Amino acid sequence: MKASKKQRRQWFWLGTIIVLLVLGVLIGYSVAYYLQSEVEETGVDVCVGEVCSRSIHIHADLSGSICGQAINLTKEQGPLTEAHTHKEKNLLHFHNTLQFDRQTNRVLDYGPLALKKSLADLDMVLPETCLGSDQAAKLQLKVNDKIVAAGLDYIWQDGDELELIYQ
Ligand SMILES: [Zn+2]
Ligand SMILES: [Zn+2]
Repeated sequence: MKASKKQRRQWFWLGTIIVLLVLGVLIGYSVAYYLQSEVEETGVDVCVGEVCSRSIHIHADLSGSICGQAINLTKEQGPLTEAHTHKEKNLLHFHNTLQFDRQTNRVLDYGPLALKKSLADLDMVLPETCLGSDQAAKLQLKVNDKIVAAGLDYIWQDGDELELIYQ
């Protein structure tokens, strides 16, 4: 008995779907194999050899004063690849990748998050002395209400409330 037109059409579509599925699996495998041999990705970490990159997006509040002038970061200030502000005033953003060692899981260079670097990114200059004073200005940094001795070398973290008094 000859298969009806309807049946033949059904077989045709079934065959097409199977071929597409097989192709899809093959392509998926080869892409996965390629990625594994070149770059290994686990979540947001991308590793090439022993060095991995981890993307981070963190924020911190910055307040205080420099030589008596209240710190007032405007909106959309600083380069987007470094510390910068967006819609909110005095809120530092940092979204970029940091490199870390695959074996030890230690970040190789926290430099981009050192407070002095972030201040420089935002064009904030700390003069040697404040106007009207003949003594070198001193910096006091509080992080979440606690004095931090590291001062400008402090590596800021997500959620920090940074209070910088320079006078
Ligand atoms: Zn941003
Ligand atoms: Zn942000």
